[in-house]
Amino acid sequence: MPNTKNHEIVIIGGGTAGLTVAAQLRRAAPKADVAVIEPSERHYYQPLWTLVGGGVVPIEKTVRPERDYIPDGVTWIRDSVESVHPEANRLTLSDGSAVDYAFLVVAPGIELNWAGIEGLPAALGSGGVCSNYSPDLAPYTWETLRGLSRGSRLIFTQPSTPVKCGGAPQKIMYLAADHLRRTGKLDSASIIFKSPGSVVFGVKEFERTLKKVIARYGIDFQLGKELVAIDGAAARARFRVTHPESGETTFEEERFDMLHVVPPQRAPAFVREGPLANADGWLDVDRSTLRHARFDNIFGLGDAAGTPNAKTGAAVRKQAPVVVGNLLAQRKSGETRTAMEYSGYSSCPLVTGYGRLVLAEFDYDNRPDPSFPFDTTKERRSMYLLKRYVLPGLYWHGMLRGRA
Ligand code: FAD
Repeated sequence: MPNTKNHEIVIIGGGTAGLTVAAQLRRAAPKADVAVIEPSERHYYQPLWTLVGGGVVPIEKTVRPERDYIPDGVTWIRDSVESVHPEANRLTLSDGSAVDYAFLVVAPGIELNWAGIEGLPAALGSGGVCSNYSPDLAPYTWETLRGLSRGSRLIFTQPSTPVKCGGAPQKIMYLAADHLRRTGKLDSASIIFKSPGSVVFGVKEFERTLKKVIARYGIDFQLGKELVAIDGAAARARFRVTHPESGETTFEEERFDMLHVVPPQRAPAFVREGPLANADGWLDVDRSTLRHARFDNIFGLGDAAGTPNAKTGAAVRKQAPVVVGNLLAQRKSGETRTAMEYSGYSSCPLVTGYGRLVLAEFDYDNRPDPSFPFDTTKERRSMYLLKRYVLPGLYWHGMLRGRA
């Protein structure tokens, strides 16, 4: 095929997972020919978007040039992948050219399906309809929050699909409640969370603490309810309600002054609709080895992976060494019996107020898996300071540089 490039190890996506894997590969195998395919010129540290929405951090502090984090000696292909042809060890790019590989690492993150909620694209960014899930919108969350008057009605939502950072839909609600408390408006406000799920949080040790936080702020936490449509001009939102006992579905409408929306999410189309997908449209990798279920020379990690862990950057930190170790072992010996395994570790720093945080760390079985020798199920100021000041530095200077 004319215009075909060739690299030994090709990484799709230069986000958290792609850059971490590229940096670790560079350190462990300096002579390997590695390429990263990434269309964006900017790289964001997304975990800080919660604090952008809460007015703590300006959005500019969360972004750096992508080029500064492509490791020296790694080729950056500034394009996006259109399709993967695993039988031919080839992929195609949006400019029509092709790239051949010996090993492929698939890390394109998650796709936000804003259009999956009727009326949402038109309503976003005005009339109190906000979302921390985009750098263009997170500053508007704070603008909305700051402008609320006494007696306001705030609604926070979560979709029924998997989402990145499962705690993020709630974290901004706790910050909003704390902001209203600090400005003397909490007592007169109505704060409502609507989730299609059946629990507040999947790990009971942390759920116990969150229920106390919910009671402290007087939040009305409603389960079995999913946002399906918004009329921005009328400031009204429509929810599908599933009744747990009968399984019956009804609809309800709510007025709002602030509506924080988390859009439905899915794997990017080339994964979802291509040969690498599992039955649910996610990347079909083994949950321990992170090797593809059908193609030995393909690995995958991060938000696009169909592994049943909570989708976070913290999960990527534990997944990347497994991908790199197993890929390099196979490259050396041709052996696919794998030495390194991922436990499903993930971590969700649940911000419960300004200066308060519960650091939820857990594995595939929703068992707590703490990194600190104290009771992490409690709200702590030290853990808030960790998220605000320590973790961003570790990300930019440690993780993305390949220092695990
Ligand atoms: P990303 O980092 O999103 O990167 C994917 C990359 O792939 C992007 O750069 C994209 O441009 C590229 N790409 C997409 N399609 C293609 C294509 N077709 N071809 C080539 N490249 C492509 N995690 C935590 O650990 N702690 C937190 O507190 C936390 N809070 C969060 C709060 C919010 C509001 C959000 C939105 C996320 C939060 N996360 C948190 C989640 C964390 O940011 C993600 O889990 C992490 O970035 C996943 O890494 P990834 O590489 O899979 O995806």
